[in-house]
This record gives sequence, structure tokens and C-alpha cells, in this order.
Amino acid sequence: MDKTIAVIRGDGIGPEIVRQALLVLDRIADLFGHSFTYTDVDMGGCAIDKYGDPLPAAELEKCLASDSVLLGAVGGEKWNDVPGDMRPEKGLLRLRAGLGVYSNNRPAKIWKQLASASPLKESIVEKGIDFIIVRELTGGIYFGEHKTEGNTATDVLTYDESEIERIGRIGFETAMKRKKRLCSVEKSNVLDSSRLWKKVMHRLADEYREVELSDMLVDNCAMQIVKNPAQFDVIVTENMFGDILSDEASQITGSIGMIPSSSLGAGKRGLYEPIHGSAPDIAGKDLANPIGTILSAAMMLLYSFNMEAEASAIEKAVSEVLDAGWRTADIMPQETAEAVGCKLTGCSDMGRKILDKIEK
Ligand code: NAD
Repeated sequence: MDKTIAVIRGDGIGPEIVRQALLVLDRIADLFGHSFTYTDVDMGGCAIDKYGDPLPAAELEKCLASDSVLLGAVGGEKWNDVPGDMRPEKGLLRLRAGLGVYSNNRPAKIWKQLASASPLKESIVEKGIDFIIVRELTGGIYFGEHKTEGNTATDVLTYDESEIERIGRIGFETAMKRKKRLCSVEKSNVLDSSRLWKKVMHRLADEYREVELSDMLVDNCAMQIVKNPAQFDVIVTENMFGDILSDEASQITGSIGMIPSSSLGAGKRGLYEPIHGSAPDIAGKDLANPIGTILSAAMMLLYSFNMEAEASAIEKAVSEVLDAGWRTADIMPQETAEAVGCKLTGCSDMGRKILDKIEK
């Protein structure tokens, strides 16, 4: 298959971690007979320096002309005093809006090799944690009317059926690519918008008969994520609930440097990025963990290009490198690593080790 990928290296550790992900993609292309063509896109602080704009229209156009978009991270102290709508993060918001991505998907997966990094009890972690939260990104209370009159403040939560249906489909499609279990999370005992949510999800279930749909109230879900996370495969939920639950879920898995994400809209094109920021404190030191970005590239292969075997080959390679005891400093400090017989390495070496383990 021939695919074009817009590549946003960004700021801080962005260029280092993206370089490793591209080397991995090149290896996949060689092994599986694909051709990936990369188009460099300037976004964030580096674009402010170059054009005085965090995402010039021509750079967004390059993303829209590509089959998918891979992003490192943007931002840093250097641009802290830039006026609000010209800040690096504004580039990211404009990118998401420009690509029309209304679904943010974050896996919560504990690598068995890193189980001790989870704040949860061993008896819970050993049952396995491997689920994904599909969060509606462009509707709900964050986008409703906000007003304050005297000592009363109001925020309006609105969803219409079409908004729920399109995110619901992403939930069901994601479940179809996994263990075919979808948990719809809402607050239907209190909210009208949640009752509509539940109705639409059950209507969609008729179209996805292979997927087992369950319902859960959001307060219960917050408890279940720490009590018995092994029960989940895919969770689909509205914007604010998803915001809170996905942060909770990312904490139970250990290191921020390991977690990828995807943002999807109507078509196959997605935006793939690690969940962490540009980590200016370690930028340029070859210390960053590239795994979150490498796994984001794997998500791109699976969700945008339907390359299931290729995505699995990357995940398997990551697992084998962790099995061999290799860690970056964010996963495990030097003293702990030595005590448990693990070895610390840097960004480029971790990337190289993963690359070497990839096989068809
Ligand atoms: P951060 O995620 O960049 O860093 C938090 C801590 O985690 C730091 O100690 C950092 O060294 C560490 N860390 C993060 N990723 C790592 C990795 N891959 N390997 C090893 N260690 C890693 O968050 P922050 O410090 O709050 O933000 C720094 C900048 O990034 C800010 O300008 C912020 O606005 C921006 N940011 C960008 C994005 C994005 O591009 N999507 C997301 C969040 C923050």
C-alpha cells in the first residue's frame, strides 16, 4: 500500500521521538512491502519562530492532503509570552478543528513488564489492564453556552442524535478491532442528554451485532477503573466524562511516556500523538521515551490504514524490548533499574532496539 503521512515534529523532545517512530515505520514498510511518503509540517513554537503563526494555513493544507498525521509534541517556555491566540497549543486546537476530528481515543494498557509502576495493588494489576477510552471531543458542556449573571453561573450541556451517533460508531468500530466489548458510560439516572446517549447507543448496537454493548453510570465507572479495570475493552463516553476518566485511566498504567493516542473524525484520516507534552526539561539530551510516539504510529497503521499485522508487529517488538529489561529513565529511575536487573537507555537506542525486534 502507498500512504502519505504528514509529520509534525514540533518542539522540545518532539523531533527526537518522531525520528524514532519514522525509523520504525520505514522498517514496517520494508518488511511488509508498503511505501510511506512523509511530508514535514511546521506547527507549534517552531512555526511561530519561522512564520509568526503556530499553524499557517499552508501547513494545515499539507495535513489535509495526507492520508494521516503523526505528531510529536508542541510548546515550551520560550513561547510562554506569545499572545493567547498565537500560542503553540493554539496550533494544536486549529489542527484538530481543521482535520474535523471529533473523537479522542486513549488506550490504558499496562505492560506486564512495568506492572510495578502502577499505583494499583498487584492483585488488581495482575488481572491485566488493556482498554481504550473513546471520548467525544467537540460537543457537550465544553461547547455549550457559558454565562455568569450576578451570583449565578450557567453551563449548558447539549447533544443531538447525530453527534452521539457518529462517536458511537467510532466506539463500535474500535470494539470490532479489539475484543468486541463496548461499555457506554453516561449519567442516565439524572441527565436527559445521557438518556438520549443511551438510546442512540442501543439503536446502533443493532448494526454491530458482534459487539457486546453494556451501560455504566459514570460515577460507577470511575470506581470500576481502579477496582477492576480488567473488565473493560472499549469505553465510549461524552466529552467531560471522557476528559476525567481518560486522565484517571492514564495514571493507573505507570509512565506518561508510554501512552499513545489517536483522534478520528468521519474519514480514515486521523491525528496520532503521544499523550505527553514537549518535555523541555529533557529536550536534546537523548533521554526521552519514544515508545508513546512509536505506539501512536502503530495506532495509525491499525485505525487509518487497516494494517493489523503491521501494528501488532510493532507492539510485539516493544514488548520484547521491555522483556529484555530495557527502560528509559521516565519508566524507572537508575537505582530501581539496577536493583531489579533492568538497564537504562536513551531515546535513540530505545528506538533502535525496538526497530531491531520488528519482524513479519
Ligand atoms: P510534559 O508532558 O511535557 O512533561 C511532564 C513531565 O514528564 C516532565 O518531567 C517530562 O520530562 C516528562 N516526560 C514527558 N514525556 C516524556 C517522555 N516521552 N519521556 C520521558 N519523560 C517524559 O508536560 P509539561 O511539562 O506540563 O509541558 C511542557 C510543554 O508541553 C508545555 O509547553 C505544554 O503546553 C506542552 N504540552 C504539549 C502537548 C501536546 O503537544 N500535545 C501536551 C501537553 C503539554
